[in-house]
Amino acid sequence: MSAVETPVVVGSLSPSRAADFLSCALMYRFRTVDRLPEPSSPDAVRGSLVHKVLEDIFDLPAAERTRERAHAMIVPAWAALQEAEPRAAGILDGLDEDAWLRSAREAVDHWFELEDPTRLEPAEREAFVECLLNSGLMLRGIIDRIDVAPDGAIRITDYKSGNAVAEGYEARALFQLRFYGLMIWRTRGVIPKVIRLVYLGDSQIVSYAPDEADLRATERKVQAIWAAITQARATGDYQPSPGRNCDWCAHHALCPVFGGTPPPIPPRRPRPPLSRWARLRARLRQVFSFSRSSG
Ligand code: SF4
Repeated sequence: MSAVETPVVVGSLSPSRAADFLSCALMYRFRTVDRLPEPSSPDAVRGSLVHKVLEDIFDLPAAERTRERAHAMIVPAWAALQEAEPRAAGILDGLDEDAWLRSAREAVDHWFELEDPTRLEPAEREAFVECLLNSGLMLRGIIDRIDVAPDGAIRITDYKSGNAVAEGYEARALFQLRFYGLMIWRTRGVIPKVIRLVYLGDSQIVSYAPDEADLRATERKVQAIWAAITQARATGDYQPSPGRNCDWCAHHALCPVFGGTPPPIPPRRPRPPLSRWARLRARLRQVFSFSRSSG
């Protein structure tokens, strides 16, 4: 293909949905093809709230990005989230909202233990990244923060609202990091110097420094996942893979492993492109649909 030719887009894939398919093809189907609703949780909504504060704090002049200012942003950010997604408030029914807001402040405090925003000037926040591979597969993801050093070195940061990756989930976290690295490399021609997951639950950072061989291997893996998804779509055969992923899967009632019967596969529906505000709504929709996997 010449430099000016653009491949026909044959489909799109995000890190979360690729990881879903790797975990269980049937879970992927329920989430991505059937788009079945899943219950959210106060923890997941708090994660969105804290993400918003950590995004918005960089609108302030550097010297004003203090812990106190971040605390003061939590209630207005919570109001904005409820406006964007009216179901958010209902998640707290029966809970002590003040205690929940305190827990959001604690998560912000954990971030301040790890990073000093007065010394950071992110190049991008909540960056919606799209990357079209030569095969025509479009990779899509929202990266919480991209920092670019004066020498051009790129650092990617993704905030996680829970604790550092628990046993059994390392592979999913590492795959997500590599997926981000691949997207940045393919869109900007620069291999990120470091990719980090910042865990706000227990103030830990998991870092990964990719190299070209890693990212080429990741691209092959992503293509293989897409080939398997395409095959499943063509045949309608999405096999269940019971395991630890069942612990957080909301679809036991429809899963043959638990005695259920999947519904007929619905016709495919196109997804619209995302504006900045739409990305916030998309993140909230993720929270309300995929409360465990969305970070
Ligand atoms: S319950 Fe387990 S096997 Fe069934 S769809 Fe969910 S993750 Fe897959």
